[in-house]
Amino acid sequence: MTEPVILLLRRELRLADNAALVGAIATGRPVLPLFVLDDVSPGPWAAGGASRWWLHYSLAALGRDLAARGAPLVLRRGRIAFEVARLAAEIGAAEVHAGMPTEPWARAGYHELRDALPIKLVVHETSLLLHPDRVRTLAGTPYGVYTPFSGACKKLLPARDLLPAPDRIVGATAPSDRLEDWNLLPRHPDWAGGLRQNWTPGEAGGHARLATFNATALTSYAARRNLPAVDGTSMLSPYLAFGEISPQQILHAVGDGSDKFTNEVLWREFAANLLWHNKDLPDRPLRPEFADMPWRDDATALAAWQEGRTGIPLVDAGMRQLWQTGWMHNRVRMVAASFLIKHLLIPWQQGEAWFWDTLVDADLAQNAASWQWVAGCGADAAPYFRIFNPALQGAKFDADGGYIRRYVPELADVPDRFIHAPWDAPTPPANYPRPIIDLAAGRARALAAFASIKRAA
Ligand code: FAD
Repeated sequence: MTEPVILLLRRELRLADNAALVGAIATGRPVLPLFVLDDVSPGPWAAGGASRWWLHYSLAALGRDLAARGAPLVLRRGRIAFEVARLAAEIGAAEVHAGMPTEPWARAGYHELRDALPIKLVVHETSLLLHPDRVRTLAGTPYGVYTPFSGACKKLLPARDLLPAPDRIVGATAPSDRLEDWNLLPRHPDWAGGLRQNWTPGEAGGHARLATFNATALTSYAARRNLPAVDGTSMLSPYLAFGEISPQQILHAVGDGSDKFTNEVLWREFAANLLWHNKDLPDRPLRPEFADMPWRDDATALAAWQEGRTGIPLVDAGMRQLWQTGWMHNRVRMVAASFLIKHLLIPWQQGEAWFWDTLVDADLAQNAASWQWVAGCGADAAPYFRIFNPALQGAKFDADGGYIRRYVPELADVPDRFIHAPWDAPTPPANYPRPIIDLAAGRARALAAFASIKRAA
């Protein structure tokens, strides 16, 4: 009997444009697709609640698609290096094919796996447009600034042609866990109603979303991408995070439709590069002086922020959109993050952890890079003295308050001119909190705190 190959799928949960799948099939051997739920190796960065919800449906969809082509998906749970090595021994595998991980813990796990396996581990590029080692400055160093980075990427793109999904796969099987037994879905309480309403996880859902974006929002992307009340962005981020669609497929589909959109996809690439070269990115500020920030320990303010009851309408609307749908508009992510870090002086890592648990698009590189960017401690970061005023941001990007009214119904009847600062209304709504901090006082405190570390540096 021909020895099979294992196809280890992790964050490339798709059949089309999947170099690892193509590589496994090209061996001419039966293919055993495997997903390992590893909650040990990532430490604090094990999948959060919203990601687990997404993962359940994503694996169900992938399992159906693979089975229909002749290669059922095998599920195992445990440390990735150990489980893959064990299965390889169990079935007498000839090789293992996998996508290239970008998370430091997963990269370490694959090194460990390579050492543990008596057979070949072949790693394919599946989740980025370009391998991080290909995008270097003339001096051979990694880029620390986005604009030259994106310029360099554009010169190298498109890096390759798209790979078609196979019609049939000669499969191999082994005993599998049952997806239901992993309990990835919330039960008591079931908080996922809004997620079910808003999303269809899986490869087909990703392509449907891309087609809609292409048909309705691509040409107006530059003008409308900052307006949280409209469907102005692609909402492809969770599909990218789980690899249900590849960035190559997206750029191929949009073509020259919007340079601004291509630039955003390259921000994702930039974040992945930052993590590739800085494995502490999720935990420690890239600029070391920020370790001395006089942060505040304030569990009450943190809870108010998490639950969307800070009394600042745009921040609360964003945090409630996140809780209800597992996603938040990028403009509002920036404002909500800035409010936590600057007005409340709460460490960015606490916001990062909350986003990690609640976002369906939680991505280690993008989440960490974005939080560091807002805090001003990352690469090419926003300057520390740029402190978003959430009321002015609301007036600019949600002028009639449509977004705020959708997520903060207590403010539904507040007149437009007070919607971003209801505390100024002659009769502020009784059932909506007063601001937990005066915006001007919070701004002054943040500036003083940032100045103190600049002086010390
Ligand atoms: P579109 O505007 O349609 O953009 C297309 C794609 O480009 C996105 O799907 C995304 O992959 C990429 N992209 C867009 N904006 C950015 C950006 N500012 N930085 C990096 N990549 C970008 N994105 C995540 O995917 N996962 C995260 O965990 C995450 N955490 C964030 C935390 C904070 C504090 C902030 C400010 C931003 C974070 N982002 C994160 C980036 C961004 O907000 C989302 O990628 C974007 O809102 C997703 O919506 P979209 O797919 O409609 O984006």
